[in-house]
Amino acid sequence: MHHEPPAPRLRPTLPSPLQPADDERFARRGVRLLLKRDDLIHPDLPGNKWRKLSLNLAAAGGRAVLTFGGAYSNHLRATAAAGRLLGFPTVGVVRGDELAHRPLNPSLARCAADGMRLHFVDRATYRSKSDPDVLSGLLSLFGECEVIPEGGSNALAAQGCTELGRELRGRADVAAVACGTGGTLAGLAAGLGPGQRALGVPVLRGGFLGAAVRELQREAFGGPAGRWSLDERFHFGGYARTPPELHAFADDFEDRHGLPVERLYVAKLLYALTTLTGEGAFAPGTRVAAVVTGTPP
Ligand SMILES: *Cc1c(COP(=O)(O)O)cnc(C)c1O
Repeated sequence: MHHEPPAPRLRPTLPSPLQPADDERFARRGVRLLLKRDDLIHPDLPGNKWRKLSLNLAAAGGRAVLTFGGAYSNHLRATAAAGRLLGFPTVGVVRGDELAHRPLNPSLARCAADGMRLHFVDRATYRSKSDPDVLSGLLSLFGECEVIPEGGSNALAAQGCTELGRELRGRADVAAVACGTGGTLAGLAAGLGPGQRALGVPVLRGGFLGAAVRELQREAFGGPAGRWSLDERFHFGGYARTPPELHAFADDFEDRHGLPVERLYVAKLLYALTTLTGEGAFAPGTRVAAVVTGTPP
């Protein structure tokens, strides 16, 4: 059977728009803030997830896709939506007991409505999900599938995200992105041109992200690719921790710019860039592109 590449049938908006944001906190320091609107790539696929999925789906060639995520995973939602739009079966392996997740939260309910088969596993099993025995157990339950890791981050995902960097060539000096698994940052940095650098803002605590990005770049590009660094100060306590100070910042940013600010990732990125600019981290004249990787649910 012949398979078209998935992108034309999905009609993603690519390259995503790059919009200047007039913000006095940046202007005062001579810094130009730009918003790279990856949230506008596709209405049904949250943000950067399309870039990470596209080469993986091409490799799957229309076969079923099995992947992993937490109960609020944007990656699971994107995979389920792609499955519905492109007509391939999807299986989502979800961390946590099924009983604890019934009734389904809105994110998992969307996955189910898009036709994703949800399979709940306890935390210990979830942790050992890359163990060959656990994996073959899953495949014997669901049949032959293309397996995509948690968060969608593998070599193909990082390669898919190089396009984000290429779209920004010549248009920014610093390209900044919020990081979960680091797959987007790994590809972004590799796609940028000479004289540009990427900045990652981890939203999880733990300080493991630098090693994860290096490993992804080794798998995807054979070694280090592009200039990148991390600022680990802006996780606000960890994944999905959104204290009132962060919400206040995000509400204010929405008022100033009319941009709906997703709170788990994008708000932490914008907060980080505003703080760094106030600290004088960017020389006057620097163009800073903030990658808007998602929209509020
Ligand atoms: C998944 C996600 C990210 C992080 O992407 P990684 O490649 O896992 O680092 C950032 N922002 C949003 C909105 C996301 O859904």
